[in-house]
Amino acid sequence: MKFERPFLNPVPPTAGTSLYAELMANVAGLPNDELFAQMIVSQTGGIGALPPGLGLDEAAFAALLLRHFPGMQLVVRHAGQIADPRALERDDVLALLLEHRAFKDGSEEWMAEIVTAACMASDHLWQDLGLWSRTFLSQLMTQNFPTLAAKNIHDMKWKKFLYKQLCEKEGINACRAPSCQVCTDYLKCFGPEE
Ligand code: SF4
Repeated sequence: MKFERPFLNPVPPTAGTSLYAELMANVAGLPNDELFAQMIVSQTGGIGALPPGLGLDEAAFAALLLRHFPGMQLVVRHAGQIADPRALERDDVLALLLEHRAFKDGSEEWMAEIVTAACMASDHLWQDLGLWSRTFLSQLMTQNFPTLAAKNIHDMKWKKFLYKQLCEKEGINACRAPSCQVCTDYLKCFGPEE
């Protein structure tokens, strides 16, 4: 499934007057609370590319809300199940992330599904996730998928990096240049993600 929605630069909402403030007033104090709050605020505000429920099914999203923001009431209208022509690609991205999960908190599984959903969209990954900056995505990757994040030693763009990992796993070299240093696509892989 491809989520195509014009991207608007996420702007942190004004504290105290927003859904963000409400979410943060109800946080459980668990890993990923803040990252989930940013994504929920962006998604409900039409920012980023995640669908309602952040790409999780209804039961999983309800469980996420209950665990990370207990006491928070939020009605989200999920779309019905539709055929996904990119199901195999999704499965590959999800498996890659889960293979590297930190096993420190159960929410890593939800995070893997959410990141996978955002990978199906077309902007930078942090933008598609509705995070407020790339720094939060680097934090997300390091916290949830540390061994994978540690492989990104040259700070490649995160979506490019994930797909390159998949190619390498399959023994495919999709790069036309012998090395990144002499590649004409260098900026597509390593340029600023703004
Ligand atoms: S910069 Fe070029 S060689 Fe390096 S990963 Fe990107 S496409 Fe491949």
